[in-house]
Amino acid sequence: MADWIIPVFLVFFLAQYLVETFLTVLNLRGVKAAGDAVPAPLAGHISTETAGRSSQYTLAKGRLGLAGDAYHTALTLAVLFSGILPWLEAALAQAGLRGPHLFVAFLAILSVALGLANLPFRLTMIFGIETRFGFNRMTWAMWLKDRLKGLALSAALGLPLLYGVYAFMAFTGRWWWVWLFCFLTAFQLAMVWLYPVVIAPLFNKFTPLPEGELRTRVLALAGKAGFRPRGLFLMDASRRSGHSNAYFTGFFRPRIVLFDTLLEKVSTDQALAVLAHEMGHYRARHVHKALALNLAASLATLYVLSLAIGWAPLFAAFGFPAPGYHSALALLMLCGGAFTFFLAPLAAWFSRRNEYQADAFAVALSGGKEALGSALVRLNDDNLANLHPHPWYVRFHYSHPPLLERLAAMEALAPATGSGHRPAGA
Ligand SMILES: [Zn+2]
Repeated sequence: MADWIIPVFLVFFLAQYLVETFLTVLNLRGVKAAGDAVPAPLAGHISTETAGRSSQYTLAKGRLGLAGDAYHTALTLAVLFSGILPWLEAALAQAGLRGPHLFVAFLAILSVALGLANLPFRLTMIFGIETRFGFNRMTWAMWLKDRLKGLALSAALGLPLLYGVYAFMAFTGRWWWVWLFCFLTAFQLAMVWLYPVVIAPLFNKFTPLPEGELRTRVLALAGKAGFRPRGLFLMDASRRSGHSNAYFTGFFRPRIVLFDTLLEKVSTDQALAVLAHEMGHYRARHVHKALALNLAASLATLYVLSLAIGWAPLFAAFGFPAPGYHSALALLMLCGGAFTFFLAPLAAWFSRRNEYQADAFAVALSGGKEALGSALVRLNDDNLANLHPHPWYVRFHYSHPPLLERLAAMEALAPATGSGHRPAGA
């Protein structure tokens, strides 16, 4: 038995926990020290009351996050080293399950159990913190209904998917990981198509954006940006939460979805600037690049998995009597994050770079910085986003640049004058 396996794993796993905790503590200290201070460039745009509330919100979420991380770390170690996984394997085999059925049952039970174990933190987040700060609009009954629907959906999609995964692992020979990659890619693409048509409508109502000034101007803006959207929808996000947003789905002719909460809060000019930003992501092919990176990462993961499966000492180290497809996936699920965690800054950097590009596109398309700038301030305000994030925390965790840096980057853009663009809105 290779007795270095567990120590190496523990070094990575605990390093992840310590770095994560250190960054969060650093971030929260800065927020606590800042209190209700408004950063100088935003004076007059954000009130000290809002700044104080956003600090309180960040602190509340951060403290829950610290407790959650400690709990999650202890739980993962307990699952890995208590012997419960080999016990579950033996119990399922004893109950007469073999091959694909054992594989599916093992992974389904593990996922459901881990989901249940995380429940106290998710509930505290929604019904504790989000309610306290006025974001949550869900009742317990609604939440329960959502969860049951989610569970049914996971069973309907996840169980056949798992049987498929087993079939590719067991029956396609030595290049199984390449075949499985093709299968998972096809599944993912099918989901991109299925999600807006079948899945999202199970949880929210989507109505075509009504005729009027906003609709006319969004379509004109899309035309100017060079694409015809597949549809323009308003989503009833306000049923569950006060957080506001807009998103695009689809690869070539996207659907544009606006949260009703966004329209409650911003002017038409500001909403158009937010949509121009989303269009920027499409024109710069960020969605396609992110998908390509995702697929490359999943191919690399499957390759590593193919090496791990043939390596008996790994399974012995975690107490399994013999290698198995189900135990390999369970170990990947529980241990994998410790090894990929240190790539997080790279992914976050790529995402922030895309945000800057989309902002620049939006400014050029709508001809002014005022609408987007004020929309970002407004959304930051309404979502109580942290005004004082620590730069190291940002490096690791921020997929979007902090407000001040985004505004500064926009200010540094060349003024869009005399290029035939419509002047900035009011
Ligand atoms: Zn964006």
